[in-house]
Amino acid sequence: MAKKTIRDISIAGKRVLVRVDFNVPFVRNTNYIADDRRLRAMLPTIRYLKDQQARIILCSHLDRPGGVVVPSLQMEPVATKLSEILGEPVKYIRHIVGDKAQESVAELAAGEVSLLENLRFHAGEEANDDAFAKELANLADVYVNDAFAASHRKHASIDKISNFLPSVSGFLMEAELDMLGSVLDSPDRPLIAIVGGAKVSDKIAVMKSLLVSVNTVLVVGGMAASFLKAQGLQVGSSLAGEKEVALASNLLEWASPAGVSIQLPTDVVVAPTIDDASLSKTVDVGNIPDNMAIVDIGPDTANNFAAFIRKSRTVVWNGPAGVFEVPPFDIGTRKIAESLAQLRKGITIIGGGSTAEAVDSFGLANRMSHVSTGGGATLEFLEGKDLPGISVLQEY
Ligand code: ADP
Ligand code: MG
Repeated sequence: MAKKTIRDISIAGKRVLVRVDFNVPFVRNTNYIADDRRLRAMLPTIRYLKDQQARIILCSHLDRPGGVVVPSLQMEPVATKLSEILGEPVKYIRHIVGDKAQESVAELAAGEVSLLENLRFHAGEEANDDAFAKELANLADVYVNDAFAASHRKHASIDKISNFLPSVSGFLMEAELDMLGSVLDSPDRPLIAIVGGAKVSDKIAVMKSLLVSVNTVLVVGGMAASFLKAQGLQVGSSLAGEKEVALASNLLEWASPAGVSIQLPTDVVVAPTIDDASLSKTVDVGNIPDNMAIVDIGPDTANNFAAFIRKSRTVVWNGPAGVFEVPPFDIGTRKIAESLAQLRKGITIIGGGSTAEAVDSFGLANRMSHVSTGGGATLEFLEGKDLPGISVLQEY
């Protein structure tokens, strides 16, 4: 069920409404965009539409204004930055729908790029309101969803809009669906999932879904504590509540009949708090002191896991191996990232906001096959859920 893209329908000269995810971070109390990767990621789609002489109407949400105009969340600085990256003017339209928006769109020349005001200034956006979606649709002839990261939300510009316009995907959406889809559908094997992060409960659904298709799961991060405890080990002051341990226990039970091997750390870095690294030490998982918590995987574990990674053909990684924000507890996460970067004949897929941030901070993002732009959307996709913004797009 491959989705049609902008390549598959006629858009020459048409008015094309493109839902993008320009929900970018700003440097506190300034108009300065701290990270413009989401803008750069849109260039292939924008350039193609320009080549087709389309009249391009970009639209996005920014933060959570809650259905009212919040001046600090206007899209103007985003339009300015995009124009800088694109090397040509981007017309900032101060409206979302209505006569003024219509007028501005009517003035667009063939190949011209514009950006509407923050969609969430209108209450109809998050309410998935029919009338608002229709008004938005009235601005254009074709709808393109290139906002994978927002596609798990049932909002008007993601969902309802498709009732009123022919709806296809952009190139970023296409890449996300190809890469993430390949993990679920027809992965090159061995297929390994590395799952980490703080809590099992955040990752239980994605792990359950991946257990159907993966060969091996490498468990890292804070959630490893729940798995270790489920196996009868003492985990000191690590977060591993009864519920979390029960979830881990279930996963361990499901895995072996499914033919999946779940690998746990054999050594870990522990510390009384993350504030004082000088008090941390590496211990065997059988020797975790009472008053200390797991903050990273240990070097033996990192080496063992690197060996699994070397033998794999597809790796999907969600959730850091330790508290990577606080060096030296980033070492395990860094080693995993390096192992992935060194995998020559394999596909490496990074999902999850923190994991992507970690890989990027190590300067290794461009060594991965794919760094997903979605956080929640990526998880829900890997959980096997139907994302509203994807299911509404035309299929071949
Ligand atoms: P992602 O955003 O990639 O899906 P998560 O949100 O699940 O990842 O988890 C990221 C967080 O998990 C990070 O803030 C990291 O510090 C934390 N984390 C990783 N390992 C540990 C640990 N051993 N103890 C506490 N927190 C951890
Ligand atoms: Mg996260």
